[in-house]
Amino acid sequence: SNQKNVGKISLEQIDSLSGKSFPLCMRQIHQSLRENHHLRHGGRMQYGLFLKGIGLSLEQALQFWRSEFIKGKVDADKSGSALGGVLHEAGSLVCDWHREKMGGSDAEREACRRKGDFDKAYAYSVRHMFGKEGKRTDYTPYSCMKVILSNAPSQGDHHGCPFRHSNPELLKQKLQVYKVSPSGIIQILELIKGMHYQLACQKYFELTHNVEEASFSLNHPNQYFIESQKVLA
Ligand code: SF4
Repeated sequence: SNQKNVGKISLEQIDSLSGKSFPLCMRQIHQSLRENHHLRHGGRMQYGLFLKGIGLSLEQALQFWRSEFIKGKVDADKSGSALGGVLHEAGSLVCDWHREKMGGSDAEREACRRKGDFDKAYAYSVRHMFGKEGKRTDYTPYSCMKVILSNAPSQGDHHGCPFRHSNPELLKQKLQVYKVSPSGIIQILELIKGMHYQLACQKYFELTHNVEEASFSLNHPNQYFIESQKVLA
């Protein structure tokens, strides 16, 4: 791995960083994860690799995903698959057995089951992202081009590039909530109309960081983060 920045940020910082220094795509995924305690595969990959890129260690990443997963309801991906259902049931049986042997409340059994589910459903994919499973490829975070051009989100997905994939009216509302000025919003929507998605994102950067003209040409969400941290430092 070529990560020089591992361990530079703590898990406690992620919420505030997501508002200040994450590009809109990652801010949006983060928010939906915090709200739903769940992300589908596309979001998990896009966001998980981004977090790895900003310096989360494997241990931090496991802790991060597990803490959300434990809060969530039954994993929507899994409930849709027969195998997932079977694994889920098997996990419950193990936890019942465990409780019989060891005692424990319903809540403890539930926590035990969720932890087991996490290990089956997420831990593998997190370890995979860090090159610890499967082909042991050390996956790199997605570039803007990859996010914009491949795997477009469908209903219920939160990944993708909001400048490319969001309905302009919804994007406009979101930008208002994020306190982008009306004239700034018009400029962003113009760039989108011309299909200049990365320039629209760069404009968003300039407006939210109070810089006249960005000194870089945006092509990667992790680059956005680094440039933001430079400005805010
Ligand atoms: Fe994310 Fe790149 Fe889209 Fe910006 S242009 S929102 S960094 S994918």
